Amino acid sequence: MTISASARDRIAFIVRDLSRRYLPDGNLHAGETALAKIVAETEDPFKVLISTILSQRTRDEMTEVASRQLFSKYGDPTELAGADLGDVERLIKPVGFYRQKAGQIVKLSRTLLERHAGSVPRTYEELIELPQVGPKTANCVLVYGFGVPRIPTDTHVHRVSNRLGLVRTKTPEATERRLMQTVPMEYWLHINELFIRFGKDLCRPIGPRCPQCSFTRFCRFYPKTKWSREARRRRRKAAKRRA
Ligand code: SF4
Repeated sequence: MTISASARDRIAFIVRDLSRRYLPDGNLHAGETALAKIVAETEDPFKVLISTILSQRTRDEMTEVASRQLFSKYGDPTELAGADLGDVERLIKPVGFYRQKAGQIVKLSRTLLERHAGSVPRTYEELIELPQVGPKTANCVLVYGFGVPRIPTDTHVHRVSNRLGLVRTKTPEATERRLMQTVPMEYWLHINELFIRFGKDLCRPIGPRCPQCSFTRFCRFYPKTKWSREARRRRRKAAKRRA
């Protein structure tokens, strides 16, 4: 798939602007999502994998607390594979669906020992074969655990990409596929961190803070916001005064 010059320019502009705001030195390890922090502290793909599963349907802050509690006692696949299920549940209780997730991460640790000698595989194809690992989790492990360019896509990345006109999709899965067809690979590694930070900070699901955003010129959602209506009203008033 080829990318038009205008789409390429727009993506470059978006990434440049968001990088200045959220990753000024271009270092993913300086990010503020739970995964970025865990990577900065441990550089361990296993911990990225487990934290990504804990993060499903859970706020970032709770993922961080649960991950820290869990890894303070069970730091590798061997320890977690032999862990007491009740104890794992207690440690990860801050996250949603903690009972279900406790069983999943113990089972996953056993599978890593059986199939991969306790290591986390570093290809998308092998990761996706693991229990509880879907496309988003596999891509998070590749980006944050191994520094392999991919575009993990959660609801923030999905919403922001649609608002900015990078895709026109209905689901995060479709957004992920489309982004990887249209966004030049040089930007993949940072898209998840940048769009999540932007989606929580300015481009919020409800009540986006558009006056602080640099993308009103081409944002598809901006014309539907109160900020746009107010700007149009001001322009009409100014035109009347001049007439
Ligand atoms: S203009 Fe508003 S809705 Fe559009 S990308 Fe910026 S913050 Fe989001």
